[in-house]
Amino acid sequence: MNRNMMVLIFTFIIGIILMSGCVDEADTSGVSSDTTDMVVAVSVLPQAEFVEKIAGDNVEVIVVVPPGADPHSYEPTPGQLKDLSDAKMYAMVGSGLTIEDMMIDKIADLNPDMMVIDCSEGIALKEMEAHDHEEETDGDHHEEESGDVHDDGAEEHDHDHENGLDPHIWTSPANVKIMVETIYEGLVELDPENESVYLENKDAYLAELDALDEDIKATLSDKEGSSFMVYHPAWGYFADHYGLTEVAVEIEGKEPSVKGMQNVIDEANEKGIKVIFVQSGFSTVSAQTIANEIGGEVVEVDPLAKDYIDNLAKVAEAFEKGLA
Ligand code: ZN
Repeated sequence: MNRNMMVLIFTFIIGIILMSGCVDEADTSGVSSDTTDMVVAVSVLPQAEFVEKIAGDNVEVIVVVPPGADPHSYEPTPGQLKDLSDAKMYAMVGSGLTIEDMMIDKIADLNPDMMVIDCSEGIALKEMEAHDHEEETDGDHHEEESGDVHDDGAEEHDHDHENGLDPHIWTSPANVKIMVETIYEGLVELDPENESVYLENKDAYLAELDALDEDIKATLSDKEGSSFMVYHPAWGYFADHYGLTEVAVEIEGKEPSVKGMQNVIDEANEKGIKVIFVQSGFSTVSAQTIANEIGGEVVEVDPLAKDYIDNLAKVAEAFEKGLA
């Protein structure tokens, strides 16, 4: 190796050291013009889609709950917390996801200048489907409206849905339209120069959501009042919006007891339900057991897919086949 080359390498290394010092505050993409720098953090994947539909390449989106992880129990890694300290905005789902409640103070300490927006603003949170299979006695019917059955209180172990409210607001496109408006307002506050671009993108996406809503209404036409059975009750807002009833196997985030299972099986038989929907990647033995007992099947649907529109249309078709 000759001397010139060594000088070159040495200069290069010094350059790297200097650069890493200088761009410490910038994002990790290495791009550092002022708008491409904007890091926006979200909790779940569908929100990443909402942000990107509005802001395009002007932002870099960090999703805290990785694909395939459970948003009710996931804990961010130290590396993620570090990445979050670069975020200019955090778009919380805001509806009581444990991960957010645990994390948001920590991030705010690390990154006091970060704007925090609450995507649940303007959305009426509903009670968790609290179909209390454990409390039922044989032969009882399950006609209570959800909401009436929530105050028996005994040892409520809610690792998650702290207030008894359903956090899965994004499963209804009507709610997503509100979430998109909130995200849009946050992005405009962050980056007012691009307001007109964001407005145009936002309106285009709202039109897509309207089309999706019409599409799903067509898929589910004549199905009003029907029931579908899910393992984890992520689809309550979807059910409400389309006039369906969600019957959940899980209670307060827990597997049902043996007696609870029997009540679920009885209810499925009573209603003629033949499909147990489970969250993609989270199939459980009890879902399969119930399916076996009722001579039905387990079908996966994903409440956390990033391609929100295509996915929800697919989910609606799957539900349509599994309605009873
Ligand atoms: Zn959930």
